[in-house]
Amino acid sequence: MRVARVELEAVIGLEVHAELETQSKMFCSCPVVDPTIAEPNSAVCPICAGMPGSLPVINQRAVEFALRVALALDCEISKTSIFARKNYFYPDLPKGYQISQYEQPLARGGHLPILMDSGESLVNIRRVHLEEDTGKLTHVRRKEEAYSLIDLNRAGIPLLEIVSEPELSLAEEVRAYATGLRSLLQYLGVNSGDMQKGAIRIEPNVSVRPIGEKEFGTRVEIKNLNSFRALERAVNYEIERQSKLLRQGKHVIQETVGWDENREITFTQRSKEQEQDYRYFPEPDLPPLVISSDWIEKVRASLGELPIEKFRRFQEQYGLNRYDAGVLIAEKSIAEYFEQTVKASSSLFAESVLSRGEIESHKLPGSAKRTNPKVIANWITGEIFALLKQTNTSIELARPTPYDLARLIQLVAQGVLNKNTAKGVLAEMFMTGKQADDIITERGLAQLSDVSAISQLVEQILIDNPEQVSEYLEGKETLFRWLFGEVMRAARGQANPQLVQAELERQLQTFKDSHEGY
Ligand code: ADP
Ligand code: MG
Ligand code: ZN
Repeated sequence: MRVARVELEAVIGLEVHAELETQSKMFCSCPVVDPTIAEPNSAVCPICAGMPGSLPVINQRAVEFALRVALALDCEISKTSIFARKNYFYPDLPKGYQISQYEQPLARGGHLPILMDSGESLVNIRRVHLEEDTGKLTHVRRKEEAYSLIDLNRAGIPLLEIVSEPELSLAEEVRAYATGLRSLLQYLGVNSGDMQKGAIRIEPNVSVRPIGEKEFGTRVEIKNLNSFRALERAVNYEIERQSKLLRQGKHVIQETVGWDENREITFTQRSKEQEQDYRYFPEPDLPPLVISSDWIEKVRASLGELPIEKFRRFQEQYGLNRYDAGVLIAEKSIAEYFEQTVKASSSLFAESVLSRGEIESHKLPGSAKRTNPKVIANWITGEIFALLKQTNTSIELARPTPYDLARLIQLVAQGVLNKNTAKGVLAEMFMTGKQADDIITERGLAQLSDVSAISQLVEQILIDNPEQVSEYLEGKETLFRWLFGEVMRAARGQANPQLVQAELERQLQTFKDSHEGY
């Protein structure tokens, strides 16, 4: 029997857990510490260790951070929300339950704008709620022994859960959603965005159904994705795996899977628990969370410029294309670095205009031109990004400073450095923090921009190559490039190419004129 090949489509919704960067934990005064640095179990008290008789207190700062996110996502805020106990038995939370929000979350509705190659679109948000993080278990399995280690430093750290509607269908959209949300959280100053350390955990739910079918297929939730790359690959893998099952007439099992980074496959972690398994009920130790309109308006007024607004402004104000604007705004610190470089570049320009007399006497090409922000964007998304990646450095720690970078770009525009040499200088600035001018002096890199010196060089080359010159004058125009190359070679590549070209043209023209005179 032949099975008709039906067209399938994926349906994807995401749950994102983001740790809130507060000073203290969600329900106690323990400090929030970096799990990779702090001594295990050094930030624990009776409340987060789940001692009987201890009472939780809501962290106001965490609520404010959650409000920031909910308002930036245009959600509807619940004036009264309720904390609930999500009961389960596992040693990562010694209380035996997680305090979360269930029937009445902090916020509902809302949407996140996402940026894709094809354009912008909005993804609807289902809910945003507050909960607490769990402790971290490390399972040690050796030949002679097997045990698990528990670190409760993370237990009780404020966690924000942001749940999207199931309305994405491509891995590219999933990536755009994840990057957009991560940017937003960073802009709002509530989350570090560190996927490696698990400060933000992105969990897609993937199902597949025949195109045209109204009902959703059975979904699979993917966990432990610690990079955008893993996210994209895992989603595509799941879509493929499920599509294959459906085409074979088999069923997808509802479950939670993990992503195996090395083998690039998903594997079963646990069959999906049902809601009733958690026996949710309102947390009796906490009052309802009441939020005043005043507070909401105060927080709303303090949000600052959001990524999508910056994205639009960068295009309008600096004439950047969508791609560059998107790359530059993705991280707030990169966007700031770019804008500071543009500013520094303008003040360098103003200075150069002030001392224009001097510059004109040198006849430097381009010296009085304002640096186009697009040129700055290219240096950052090209050279600077490559250096950051190679050395695994974050932009906050990166050299050169915006001012020093602006100066380097100015030196290129002024013809003191050619672009290739400048790249080498930038790498040295990046490594040592030295300034471009010092590196140029130390290494004698300055491009020859002295007109009389260039004029002499050109003259010498024309004298040394009389045959090529007369062939050129007889009409073999391609020899111009050859003569140009000879001059550049004589200058060991360090002559200003525009000046050489102009001077060569001028001297050859003089020859021509005298030729015609015969
Ligand atoms: P939980 O996983 O905690 O039970 P939800 O039912 O709220 O939570 O759904 C979690 C996520 O799964 C949401 O982002 C939602 O969009 C998505 N989702 C729900 N059903 C499907 C489905 N059939 N296919 C893909 N995603 C789905
Ligand atoms: Mg879930
Ligand atoms: Zn504590």
